[in-house]
Amino acid sequence: MDKLRFQSFGSGSSGNCYYIGNASRGLLIDAGLGVRSIRKHLRNIGLDFENIWGVFVTHDHADHIKAVGPIGEKHHVPIYTTRAVHEGIQRSYCVTEKLYTSKKYIEKGETIQVGEFNITSFPVSHDATDNVGYTVEYKEKRFTFATDLGYIGEEVANELKQADFAVLEANYDEQMLQEGSYPVHLKNRIISKTGHLSNDQCGLFLSENFHSRLKHIFLCHLSRQNNLPDLAYTTVQNYLEEKKIIVGKDVQLITLDRSEPSELFIFE
Ligand SMILES: [Zn+2]
Ligand SMILES: [Zn+2]
Repeated sequence: MDKLRFQSFGSGSSGNCYYIGNASRGLLIDAGLGVRSIRKHLRNIGLDFENIWGVFVTHDHADHIKAVGPIGEKHHVPIYTTRAVHEGIQRSYCVTEKLYTSKKYIEKGETIQVGEFNITSFPVSHDATDNVGYTVEYKEKRFTFATDLGYIGEEVANELKQADFAVLEANYDEQMLQEGSYPVHLKNRIISKTGHLSNDQCGLFLSENFHSRLKHIFLCHLSRQNNLPDLAYTTVQNYLEEKKIIVGKDVQLITLDRSEPSELFIFE
């Protein structure tokens, strides 16, 4: 019953939300879907908001915060993030129900304990008000979430190098983006150091920094216009296999769907 569980409820610009926990309690990373969808996904795994000990928000873009208002104020789930992200949430057009009693502040780099989970935040490079990733530690297993980042900085790398499980962005294929229909300023934004991570950046980092502790890689936040699930998967797989890391044997590689929930992963 207390095995580590993970499920993606949605991953991409139409809404991000991940469950991490065990069979009876856990945390959400981001709440960028509608509150009813999130509740439905929780109920499908036998949970409700009363089983959620906190939502940890990565940044204040709409696809990560849409439901924090009702989850925090109506369902009384604490909403944890940095002071700057909270200020961004208060200003955000997409959060109509503002946060009061549910607001919880974290400092970047610190580790806090919530129930049996230890959560460490770390800075990532992106263009919201403030941006963090999280490592959730549970029974000596480390689960690192790094989404919406223009490049893998030192702090992100440090976390990924110790992770048993990693949710890492593979947002775009460089050629698809360049040849696609996005206006130049948007292409430049995505490619920039405060934009998103490409399949190549993701695969190159993972292959060069692979360690035997890393058992599962989940590719997240794939672009609808500038990526394809198979392309993201094979690009990362090719980088790993160039370094003789065999997908399916040395590590599991999973692409998270943009709008469909993933299967519920239960780890030994
Ligand atoms: Zn996003
Ligand atoms: Zn973002």
